[in-house]
Amino acid sequence: MTKLEYLLMYQKADLKKQDLENGLKTTESRKKLNRITKILREQQAILAKLTQDAESQQASLAKLVSQQQALEHDLDLNHSEMETLSADDEVTGEELTEFRQDVERLNREIGKLEKEVSALLETLDKTTEEYQKARSLGTKAKKEYDRLKAVVEVEKTDCAAAITTAEKEMDTVARQVDPTLMAKYKRARVHHSMPVVPVSNEKCSGCNMSIPMAVLKKLSAQDAIMECENCGRLLYQP
Ligand SMILES: [Zn+2]
Repeated sequence: MTKLEYLLMYQKADLKKQDLENGLKTTESRKKLNRITKILREQQAILAKLTQDAESQQASLAKLVSQQQALEHDLDLNHSEMETLSADDEVTGEELTEFRQDVERLNREIGKLEKEVSALLETLDKTTEEYQKARSLGTKAKKEYDRLKAVVEVEKTDCAAAITTAEKEMDTVARQVDPTLMAKYKRARVHHSMPVVPVSNEKCSGCNMSIPMAVLKKLSAQDAIMECENCGRLLYQP
């Protein structure tokens, strides 16, 4: 067998292995698993965002409640002071009016805060509801993910033997391939799944670039292999 024939034989085994691996990556279960992985990740981001929202809403709520408590405390003080004043014979009407106005102001402020608190509680309820919904969706997605993952594992195991066989074949043929050619093959293989291609209509059938006359001439020799100057694939004249 010629150098070229061995190299092509090696490539054939390599392509077989690639086919098996690509087949494994594109099974229906694998595609579904990829989709569900994406969904799970999105849901985790949503949950993190909702947790953050709930925390900041709870902090605002605590602040409002403590403001409300402070105002109620002021109101209590005012009430008791007013009672003392009312019992005082020397108190003027003006002073009492001023106190009453203070009490009214405090009541207004407390009323405003109460409204804010109840609006915030409603928002917090909604956030909690959304969180629970997202979490239940996430649980469902996780179950589906686990199921698909198991299917994909079985597919992998089933294919593993065939891949091992292809690899063994590659190893066996590799011993017959010229080491310099093998190095060139491996270099081209980094960028191309099929590193050895025939010349077709005086062009590289890998990248479609026209091949210079001088190179074509060299390729016409028996067992000649040349690198494509454009794509680096190994060329031969079929
Ligand atoms: Zn090329």
